[in-house]
Amino acid sequence: MSNVIVIGGGAAGMMTAVMAAGAGHRVRLLEKNEKLGKKIFITGKGRCNLTNACDMEELLNQVMSNRRFLFSAFHGFTNFDTIDFFEKLGMRTKIERGSRVFPESDHAYDVTDALAREMRKRKVTVSLRQEVTGLLTEALPDTSAAPEAFPGEGAVSDKKKNKAAGKKKVKQSARVTGVCLKNGSTLLADAVVVATGGLSYPSTGSTGDGYRFAKETGHEVVPCVPSLVSVSMQERWCGEVSGLSMKNVAVSFVDRNGTVLYDAFGEMLFTHKGVSGPIILSATAEASTRLQGTTMYLDLKPALSVEQLEQRILREMEAAKGKQLKGLLGTLMPASLAGVLTSVIAIDEAKTAAQITKEERLALAKYLKHIPLHVTGLGGYNEAVVTKGGVAVDDISPATMESKRVAGLYFVGEVLDLDAMTGGFNLQIAWSTAAACGKNIKET
Ligand SMILES: Cc1cc2nc3c(=O)[nH]c(=O)nc-3n(C[C@H](O)[C@H](O)[C@H](O)COP(=O)(O)OP(=O)(O)OC[C@H]3O[C@@H](n4cnc5c(N)ncnc54)[C@H](O)[C@@H]3O)c2cc1C
Repeated sequence: MSNVIVIGGGAAGMMTAVMAAGAGHRVRLLEKNEKLGKKIFITGKGRCNLTNACDMEELLNQVMSNRRFLFSAFHGFTNFDTIDFFEKLGMRTKIERGSRVFPESDHAYDVTDALAREMRKRKVTVSLRQEVTGLLTEALPDTSAAPEAFPGEGAVSDKKKNKAAGKKKVKQSARVTGVCLKNGSTLLADAVVVATGGLSYPSTGSTGDGYRFAKETGHEVVPCVPSLVSVSMQERWCGEVSGLSMKNVAVSFVDRNGTVLYDAFGEMLFTHKGVSGPIILSATAEASTRLQGTTMYLDLKPALSVEQLEQRILREMEAAKGKQLKGLLGTLMPASLAGVLTSVIAIDEAKTAAQITKEERLALAKYLKHIPLHVTGLGGYNEAVVTKGGVAVDDISPATMESKRVAGLYFVGEVLDLDAMTGGFNLQIAWSTAAACGKNIKET
């Protein structure tokens, strides 16, 4: 039995504590907030999309950063294991559109309650309002000083040498011995699990402390950026239709060289500064900061070609010859958007349908299939669903989540350089990495 400290009472921390206690360890969970699972509470708009009931290939496909690293953890504790796990704890689940899994009650706090109950049952000591400020480590004896080879003996070919130079060789040179608390005291432990989350929604307690712990103990941290976040646009008119949701539209983000960085069909939303909604969030997960400075082309009628749309406009014009431009556009899109675009389109808005020329009609069809919006930036951590970047997975064992640099130190959940699309995949990363760790913490 080992004495295990888990830092962080979010999804990953609570799951690790349950699993480690189940494996027979004495576990203490430290959470700096006054309650557990603050972020879980706001997931899935308060309903918690806790995983996705897709097949393994799809599960892996939805991971954006370091998919291969998750292979072992995802197989060790699958999305269906997540469903079974919560069902066994008495929390019924249901599957919705897109195979998204929710608590049957539609209450995110049922997820936290189930984990908190199980921690109590497995005698995990939960300490709230306990902020960890640093890790305690001690150096391990250096065993690397191998005797030098005699000339000609153990000679390594240049090819092998180059290969070795390209591959980072990591070795445990220290071991963790405990943690320092904000109140000035220290707690000793045989194993410490960092489950402090990322940087998104810092009001939930995710303030990036784990990145500092990782750096201070010699780990590489991949620079972080907000992901699954809204995109700001130069066009101010977006704000005039803020809140308008558009289904069945297509977008493509094109850089200055004309390269399409991301394109998708689906649902988006106008915001006071630009755009958001499912296909926009996905664009940020996939292309991230590369979106900066690109132009997003919005196609309001992806099912029609320019010619087909022009014919449709012609039919609308013939049906209502006396209608002005705004009224005409209103037959093709929501009235609020028509109102805004009337002043953006290069056609005199006082013209009636009968006065619009063939050239103007063609230009209108082209415009509605290719509305340019210029990206000025991505939203910040205060609104990002996840953090892209984090503790480099090269420094972590994929089977156990143990550090390859510091013995007995583990990293789980969003603090790692792992992120995925929306749909329950980010929480599955938390559950799977936590299970891999909790079940495999070494005996001391
Ligand atoms: C608005 C929103 C909605 C989301 N919806 C979904 C969804 O429906 N489905 C999905 O799969 N994902 C969703 N996500 C993403 C998902 O919530 C996260 O990926 C996941 O919660 C990460 O879990 P974690 O345990 O690694 O980190 P966190 O949940 O961030 O937990 C970290 C915990 O550590 C504590 N902590 C931090 N530093 C210290 C310290 N120094 N000492 C002590 N404690 C500390 C924090 O207070 C916090 O409680 C959503 C995210 C947001 C922001």
